[in-house]
Amino acid sequence: MVNNRLNLILAQIRQAEVAYHRKPGSVLLLAVSKTKTAKDIAEAYQAGQRHFGENYSQEALKKQQELGAYDITWHFIGPIQSNKTKALALHFDWVHSVDSFKIAKRLSEQRPVSLPPLNICLQVNISGEQSKSGITLNELPQLCELVAALPNIKLRGVMAVPMPEEDFDLQRQPYKTLYEAVAKLNNPELDTYSFGMSGDLNAAIAEGATIVRIGTALFGAREYT
Ligand SMILES: *Cc1c(COP(=O)(O)O)cnc(C)c1O
Repeated sequence: MVNNRLNLILAQIRQAEVAYHRKPGSVLLLAVSKTKTAKDIAEAYQAGQRHFGENYSQEALKKQQELGAYDITWHFIGPIQSNKTKALALHFDWVHSVDSFKIAKRLSEQRPVSLPPLNICLQVNISGEQSKSGITLNELPQLCELVAALPNIKLRGVMAVPMPEEDFDLQRQPYKTLYEAVAKLNNPELDTYSFGMSGDLNAAIAEGATIVRIGTALFGAREYT
């Protein structure tokens, strides 16, 4: 089941790369496994998936323990509370949802020097929704500069979760705006655009996504208890 879905999504990603003149293989699939079990992750792993994304640190740590023998790259994509930064700094390879200097600094201080630098993306609230976390586009240049100077973390790019839209052109717009804002910074270290979910991955790939974060299309609908 997961195997079939994984192959369908990978085919869709490869097709979108061709359709939008992206380099073949330039878009990474991040399997978003929040609320799913270690068994679900293991199934996707057996089918070849290596990158997994989680939103809740306690839930993630439990699964990481169960899956200790697996060679998984773990991405954190959920809202970050200051008291959770240590767990993230110790147990993840990537954090996509950094939205303040304070959080970046804590991750930098708490990342063990024995580990490779923690890969960081800044989350940008590109649709300007009150309810969403993320910095504004105006804050991006200065925060990039400050975060890039911190040790033990490596600023890789941006993450966005735009307002859901049905229309393809409306889906593309916020990604295009953010892509252009990052391009203007002219920083070759910024190579990551964490854009796109199950409902808008084609639009995200059209506008430069290098990581698409897919949950529902891969694992089915989430059940919250
Ligand atoms: C849950 C989640 C996803 C996956 O969303 P789907 O619509 O299930 O593909 C992607 N990104 C973030 C930040 C999420 O919280």
